[in-house]
Amino acid sequence: MTPPINPSRRQLLRSVALGMSLAPLVAPAVSAEPPLISESDPAAQAVHYVDDARHASGATAGATCASCSLYSGAGGADRGSCTLFPGKLVRAAGWCSAWSSL
Ligand code: SF4
Repeated sequence: MTPPINPSRRQLLRSVALGMSLAPLVAPAVSAEPPLISESDPAAQAVHYVDDARHASGATAGATCASCSLYSGAGGADRGSCTLFPGKLVRAAGWCSAWSSL
């Protein structure tokens, strides 16, 4: 018959200390977000992506990633995801030639 499990205070403190010492190793992996796409990325260059729509030639007034139908980002966030660039984020203020209001 197995005796009932009754961890001692010392064992409990060791477990808590171990968990706290490992937390910094685990936390960055949990909170990591995809990287921002670079304007020099070939996929970005293919659609003339820029981080700031004010520097885009061809962008209509008010057309930014934040107002694009392919954009997903939290309200007020400076970045979000775009279906054109899986695994990368774009600037909310960015723009590319695939901008769509549909
Ligand atoms: Fe921004 Fe839309 Fe172009 Fe994606 S498709 S980069 S959200 S303008």
